[in-house]
Amino acid sequence: MKAYGRHHYIDGSFDAGLGTRTGPVFNPSTGQLVYDCNYADTRTVDHAVQVAAAAARKWGSQSQARRLEVIFRMRELLRSEVEPLADLIGRENGKTLADARGEIGRAVEALEFATNFSQIMKGEYSANVGGSIDIFSMRQPLGVVACIAPFNFPVMQPLMMASLAVAVGNAVVHKPSERVPGPAGRLGELWTKAGLPNGIWNVVNGDAEAVDAIVENPSVRAISFVGSTRVGEKIYHIGTGLNKRVAAYTGGKNHMVVMPDADLDAAANAFVSAGFGSASQRCMAVSLLVAVGKNTADSLRELIVPLVRRLKVGAFDEAGVDFGPLVSAAAQKAVKEAVHRTATEGAELVVDGSQLVVTGREQGFYAGPSLADRVTTNMELWKEEIFGPIRGIMRAGDFDEAVEIVNAHQYGNGAVIFTRDGPAAHRFCRDVEAGMLGVNVPIPVPVGNFNFGGLRRSRFGDAHMFGPETAKFFTKLKTISQRWPEPFGSSEALSLAFEPHE
Ligand code: NAD
Repeated sequence: MKAYGRHHYIDGSFDAGLGTRTGPVFNPSTGQLVYDCNYADTRTVDHAVQVAAAAARKWGSQSQARRLEVIFRMRELLRSEVEPLADLIGRENGKTLADARGEIGRAVEALEFATNFSQIMKGEYSANVGGSIDIFSMRQPLGVVACIAPFNFPVMQPLMMASLAVAVGNAVVHKPSERVPGPAGRLGELWTKAGLPNGIWNVVNGDAEAVDAIVENPSVRAISFVGSTRVGEKIYHIGTGLNKRVAAYTGGKNHMVVMPDADLDAAANAFVSAGFGSASQRCMAVSLLVAVGKNTADSLRELIVPLVRRLKVGAFDEAGVDFGPLVSAAAQKAVKEAVHRTATEGAELVVDGSQLVVTGREQGFYAGPSLADRVTTNMELWKEEIFGPIRGIMRAGDFDEAVEIVNAHQYGNGAVIFTRDGPAAHRFCRDVEAGMLGVNVPIPVPVGNFNFGGLRRSRFGDAHMFGPETAKFFTKLKTISQRWPEPFGSSEALSLAFEPHE
């Protein structure tokens, strides 16, 4: 298996870079070191940005038809590469092959959405606003834009963030997670194969040093970041301080409110699949169930516990596995500690899977599913995002109390309600402060022509990802006033007054 993530991908080929630092890439299913990845230093990042800037000048002036052709070809390539790409994702991220295939499906959707770019790019025109002046607007690419990505969706996330950036004529510098650099290198190669000119999609690997160099490089005009709130908030402040556009999509803690009238079997199933899928390493995973009413929590718990106990945890490529390992040994340790603290803080630990050992894979970064009941708002399990398989049940006396719990949280990425009560669902959507809401839909990630993004500390900046606003984020707007007087030439007297539109 080729180590696609060993080197950077700059100007259409793999490049060792100038830095001397490297970092280990593990197979989380076995815990084995697979290869060392070269980390970019400032000189390597600056080189990639310079290459991108030169390429962007030509690409941005190519016809829309030419750019569209490349996006279509990339879509076809991705569709033909599902199996090898899924294997690459699973090998470094740990998610199951079925889950990785689903991720690639969403990445294909992102490319399909990007084919709409010419519609979004259309400007406006007003004829004769006064004094024979016509006004029109047009959007132009920014030049070099950056895409700083997390580990949890190594293929979908960069394509959701930046397919439109390419379509509208920019060059991209993609910095994948240093824990999962392989799929990024392969994506770079696929873009080249699709006919994207060299230098338009570059990948630089590394950690904070590479990110800081990207954020500080004056030629990088916009930064799309997805990752933790700790890092996203920092990048947002530094980047905007340098007058760059920054959109940072950050952490989440997604509540699932279940009303007493809901289909409890469906709600229990949804909670387990949306809560534990991908080892709970999704920003839109359901973290907490908020059961409303006297008996709802107990009834749900009876349904949920056997489902949780039945979940099979194992290697990414093992048949019948529900979820794989965590991405790293550090993530595994953090989850084990969080499970331990949950019990000491007074929640009832109903299922403790934290000590799970997978036979034959003893060095893998596994944690089994854990479930805590009677979680309250003074506990860490409510307050903090725990990116691993421990989920909690909370109890609310009525609908208003449930909404109060959801709205008291620092994060507002997603929130969902399960109910048969239309007015309650309506009030939920009106009153809950989260960017993506679901009614009987457990993971409400929208399709591409709608905007993606959270509220409160789940997003920094005003932009959205995936929907039409992405194209605006990656373009600059110009407004032009023009007059072509007849007869051509002027016999008017010279006036220095600011002209009203008459
Ligand atoms: P992370 O913040 O550790 O890493 C994200 C990126 O930032 C990586 O490329 C990493 O190399 C870089 N980075 C890490 N530390 C840095 C530092 N000190 N300075 C500069 N750059 C740094 O996040 P992660 O662990 O890869 O991903 C998980 C997080 O991403 C979770 O919090 C999850 O909720 C969030 N996430 C959010 C969304 C969303 O749409 N809101 C989507 C996916 C993931």
